[in-house]
Amino acid sequence: MELRDLPGVDQVLGRLAPLLARFPRELVVGEVRRVLDEMRAGLRSGASPDEASVEERVERSLAALARPSLRRVINATGVILHTNLGRAPLPGYPLVTGYSNLEYDLEAGARGRRDVHAGGLLRRLLGAPAIAVNNNAAAVYLVLHELAAGQEVLVSRGELIEIGDGFRIPEIMAHSGALVREVGTTNRTHLDDYREALTPRTRLILRVHRSNFRMSGFTSSPGVAELAALGRETGVPVYEDLGSGCLMDLSAWGIDEPQPAASLRAGAGLVSFSGDKLLGGPQAGIIAGQPDLVSRLRRNPMYRAFRLDKLVLQALETTARLLVLGEHRRIPVLRMITMPADEIRARAELVLARLDAPGVELTAGESVVGGGSTPGQSLPTWLMAFASAAPDALERQLRSSDPPVLARIERNRLLIDLRTVQPEEEAELTRALQALSW
Ligand SMILES: *Cc1c(COP(=O)(O)O)cnc(C)c1O
Repeated sequence: MELRDLPGVDQVLGRLAPLLARFPRELVVGEVRRVLDEMRAGLRSGASPDEASVEERVERSLAALARPSLRRVINATGVILHTNLGRAPLPGYPLVTGYSNLEYDLEAGARGRRDVHAGGLLRRLLGAPAIAVNNNAAAVYLVLHELAAGQEVLVSRGELIEIGDGFRIPEIMAHSGALVREVGTTNRTHLDDYREALTPRTRLILRVHRSNFRMSGFTSSPGVAELAALGRETGVPVYEDLGSGCLMDLSAWGIDEPQPAASLRAGAGLVSFSGDKLLGGPQAGIIAGQPDLVSRLRRNPMYRAFRLDKLVLQALETTARLLVLGEHRRIPVLRMITMPADEIRARAELVLARLDAPGVELTAGESVVGGGSTPGQSLPTWLMAFASAAPDALERQLRSSDPPVLARIERNRLLIDLRTVQPEEEAELTRALQALSW
């Protein structure tokens, strides 16, 4: 095709009657112009021509526009809290999208507060008053800003960490207006280091959980109880950023993460943690602790800026209620973590029985919690391993199925871990595996 062969806008529109019936005229015209410009530029630069006609391209791009961009995917990677896949899959619950009693007290017939819906449940789980904001990063900011802006916060040099995606403790501290006073060294910090760094301007002792890495060897740092004792002596509260904040004891499954209620019992004045890590709920940041401190946070104008939307609030309330009622198996993250390897093996055998795939075998392997938590800890699992000279091509095929299936590649094998596949997704997964061309 040459430049002079390109049709005019009106000529193309004449052939697009079905699209004009479906989409606003301005949108179609704009898309036709954009496609023609793109083709003109392509022809000028001598790029290898795409065979598709102008109409086909316009149709394709409008169809893509009409399709949701954020889609459901099947996570067969075995990474339970996969940050790229939205961290925690949520428990199913009927969603209220219309009017609701979000900020209305039905009994009193008067204005109510949105915190009450999840607040009471969180209080039961944590043994202290709690509020929720958009994520744990916002929680850290709010606590530092309200309690220590313009004043000093003590933090160990071993805890000035970076969590994925650019969340750095020193940076968020700087933005909150709190002045960081680093104590100790990277590998060792003692109680006396904190004591010596205290000044009349110290407002908070911050302790940060090293969520995504492990330190070993010549290391030490005081526990929360020791810090809290120092805090009581000097009138400075301890605030612990716990990261995951596991609300169920998972040690029987080899997952060793600090529990917020334990940290509060040990004397922390405040704790905060994410809603979408080991809690298994929506993206949120939960802050709990001493009533006077929590009410100060609630009154800070930034609390209003960070407050939860009604959809998130419903998911948080549902997750918290399931935990209170002991129904952790209805929370997908907790069901996945606690699923025995034997059960995964039995499920995989059933899927394999329905497949006619060459070179596939069941092999022992490991799933991980992920989401920047529990480094160095893993869960035993059974993997379906598809040996192939081109596992990348298989992975790509699975990724383009509907719904997309995401798998792991290790050496020359494509690996499917059913731990992170929800049972109701197995039929779809089987279909996607059957459709693979080897
Ligand atoms: C994950 C994490 C955060 C950030 O939490 P988000 O909910 O993702 O904002 C902050 N601190 C620690 C220690 C974490 O592990």
